[in-house]
Amino acid sequence: MKKAEELRVLGEEIVACRKCARLVAYREKVAREKRRAYREWEYWGKPVPGFGDAKAELLILGLAPGAHGANRTGRMFTGDRSGDFLYRALHKAGFANQPTSLHRDDGLRLQNAYITATIRCAPPGNKPLPGEIAQCRGYLERELELLRPRAVLALGGIAWNGYLEILKQLGKIASRAAFPFAHGSEAELPGDLPRLFGAYHPSQQNTQTGRLTPAMYAQVLRHIQRYLRAR
Ligand code: SF4
Repeated sequence: MKKAEELRVLGEEIVACRKCARLVAYREKVAREKRRAYREWEYWGKPVPGFGDAKAELLILGLAPGAHGANRTGRMFTGDRSGDFLYRALHKAGFANQPTSLHRDDGLRLQNAYITATIRCAPPGNKPLPGEIAQCRGYLERELELLRPRAVLALGGIAWNGYLEILKQLGKIASRAAFPFAHGSEAELPGDLPRLFGAYHPSQQNTQTGRLTPAMYAQVLRHIQRYLRAR
């Protein structure tokens, strides 16, 4: 089976998942009740599969679908302010064919990048429980196995630690402590593991307070492009 097909099959499995009772109840409640501005929408209300180029060298790892963003539209980082910020930056850096991400049929394509998340269901308050992250980890492991990226960009500390935890569980690193998260951090991991890059999560809390600016994202993405082109 071709990689794109395997990712599609995995995506179908993810979309059907109901393993975390708390998250299933929340994502469906949000989809039923809706936000006033989106009352005409039929919310997705299910787990959100990964999205992007099946041949990607860069895997971008977010935290979780936004309750009224990806949980509404069914595509990662689509339909909310975090996505507006992220896709504008990806477009500028050459990883996306357009700067906007509004709905699943808007023509957006990623180039050499694939976007996924630590957990696939929107959590209350954007805060997944450790047990829920552990429950969902297998899907990310399988995506990593299929894609075999050369670089991973973790958006925020939870994604960064979630990724390192996978490596620890697989016995590829001894501990996460040697690799602390910071915006702009870069970790050279042992063996042939992908290079790990860190950036603050593009949440409104970060982008509207000036903690995170477009220039800061452009710099991280430039580093990644340089790294990918170097070999
Ligand atoms: S968070 Fe992951 S494991 Fe839990 S229900 Fe959603 S898709 Fe399934």
